[in-house]
Amino acid sequence: MPLKTIDPEIYEIMKRETERQRNKLNLIASENYASRAVLQAMGSVMTNKYAEGYPGKRYYGGCEFVDEAENLAIERAKNLFGAEHVNVQPHSGSQANMAVYLAVLKCGDTIMSMDLSHGGHLSHGSPVNFSGKLFNIIPYGVSMETKTIDYDSLMELAKKHKPRLIVSGASAYPREIDFSRFREIADEVDALLLADIAHIAGLVVAKIHSDPVQYADFVTSTTHKTLRGPRGGMIMCRSEYAKEIDRTVFPGIQGGPLMHVIAAKAVAFKEAMSREFNDYQKQIVVNAKKMASELISRGYEIVSGGTDNHLMLVDLTPLGITGKDAEAKLGEAGIIVNKNTIPFETRSPFITSGIRIGTPAATTRGMKAKEMVVIASAIDETLRNMEDAEKIKEVKRTILELCGQFSIPYE
Ligand SMILES: *Cc1c(COP(=O)(O)O)cnc(C)c1O
Repeated sequence: MPLKTIDPEIYEIMKRETERQRNKLNLIASENYASRAVLQAMGSVMTNKYAEGYPGKRYYGGCEFVDEAENLAIERAKNLFGAEHVNVQPHSGSQANMAVYLAVLKCGDTIMSMDLSHGGHLSHGSPVNFSGKLFNIIPYGVSMETKTIDYDSLMELAKKHKPRLIVSGASAYPREIDFSRFREIADEVDALLLADIAHIAGLVVAKIHSDPVQYADFVTSTTHKTLRGPRGGMIMCRSEYAKEIDRTVFPGIQGGPLMHVIAAKAVAFKEAMSREFNDYQKQIVVNAKKMASELISRGYEIVSGGTDNHLMLVDLTPLGITGKDAEAKLGEAGIIVNKNTIPFETRSPFITSGIRIGTPAATTRGMKAKEMVVIASAIDETLRNMEDAEKIKEVKRTILELCGQFSIPYE
């Protein structure tokens, strides 16, 4: 019996969520629309299979086909990124990071990583996260003047604190990360280097962002952001760390792998090998640059003055509105963004002084530079007329019309 009959409540909720994804404009930098093929693999019988262990070395019988799927995912990921070893089992990006930490660090060891309020991620050592509770965290930030990473002061900090592991990578950093400089810094203090490319994996594959794999000892990623696959994580590393990484993922921190998600990861990796995917990644960046310059020309303050990648941070301080209020009002108008702290933030993470805007999802729908002009103008109209219900309704109509012209991959 179909879902509609068995569980009309969930069916109805899913229908409404699909409508939301179709009729609202998604500018959340960490989200995307997975393809129909990825969704099919995810919503499949592969979820029924227990497969603790690794291909050829499982703790359950009947793994011959899921073994093939996992091997395909691994081989494709190796080719895609040029990695020596890949583990596709982490359930999420956070668990991929956890596995790296626990594979090579002891509790209390020092990790140097980007501060959450400067663009880092919870799993890079936030006090409310396991990473901040288990390890000694030395946070680094961006420079006050340029709002970009100052590699010279990073070197000083590393020399002073002698971290065992340095984490490069961020969730809200609009500029290219210089992994070769990170390598130099790590080598200088004899630290291991982790590149967390959760956000930029798609750009890395398309060679729009410099390659982390040749510099970092470990590369972790999610598969659902610019990479446009199923929700999940992955780890790449040099062969010398392969055994320890695999052992730490299972049995260290996870039980049975999500074989339906691993099958979907394989599909996403195959899609990512295509010419279309490369063009898509290029368009993401073209769109982000266009959006940033359109906002700047309308008087907005963009953190660091622009973007090199798929996202930007808008500093709303000059407008006297908070990230929280901007997020809510833009949401009313059908534009979905998230409030975000800006470097040297003075407000709480629940309020914030900024919003983060990303183009991966809108670009998947086929939107190009021309549409970015319409969207920037809609954002501007909204933020300048926060109390004008008529204006907001007008923007909402514009956005609905725009969304009507660009389908999502499963209509
Ligand atoms: C999104 C993200 C993660 C992890 O994401 P999950 O939600 O745990 O899958 C890890 N690191 C960075 C930098 C991220 O942006």
